[in-house]
Amino acid sequence: MSIKENLIAIKNTFISPDCLLVAVSKTKSAGEIMEAYEVGIRDFGENKVQELTEKYDALPKDINWHMIGHLQRNKVKYIAPFVHLIHGVDSLKLLKEINKQGEKNDRTITCLLQVHIAQEDTKFGFSEEELKELFASEELNDLKYVKIVGLMGMATFTDNTSQIRSEFKGLQELFEVLKPTTLPKNVVMQELSIGMSGDYLVAQEMGSTMVRIGTAIFGERNY
Ligand SMILES: *Cc1c(COP(=O)(O)O)cnc(C)c1O
Repeated sequence: MSIKENLIAIKNTFISPDCLLVAVSKTKSAGEIMEAYEVGIRDFGENKVQELTEKYDALPKDINWHMIGHLQRNKVKYIAPFVHLIHGVDSLKLLKEINKQGEKNDRTITCLLQVHIAQEDTKFGFSEEELKELFASEELNDLKYVKIVGLMGMATFTDNTSQIRSEFKGLQELFEVLKPTTLPKNVVMQELSIGMSGDYLVAQEMGSTMVRIGTAIFGERNY
């Protein structure tokens, strides 16, 4: 199937029609991205800073670029001028650097905090405890060029749907618990970024507001 056909097929399966589809285009060419663009996709996700900046330079300026990978502090400066949303923020140190680069570029940078929900050690993120500590810290309040709009999580890479479901459910519950609480003024619980090619329907059942889908749109990646 073509990229266009894949996109139409995926959209047709959506349980939540308002859920944002972020097309994960890492390793894919500008031409492949344009095929998705021509079907109306404007949100693309990349996990490497250099690839992200190269594609930003080469492609239409109305694309919303999502940084979905692990972001190193020394690379924030390259994406700060244009990035739409940083999904994987996992430390206060990184937030401070994003704030600094936001100030330099005179723009507020929107972020999601990554929460560790998988049983694997390899996935980054805050624990529930660390998240609550962060929200209680005075330092967060001072970051005027950062806006935290929600949470992001990655389930364990497994075929076990009930495990994925329970990991997503845990994150959804945390999201719902935090939502009505008094949060720092630059934090709002609005977006829940969960779900990839293999688990986006489970994620939508668990309240996902944005899914990050690569393989199911563009096919397998060749690294
Ligand atoms: C690659 C990637 C995705 C997309 O994965 P697929 O299984 O190809 O849909 C989603 N989120 C993150 C953080 C990724 O790195």
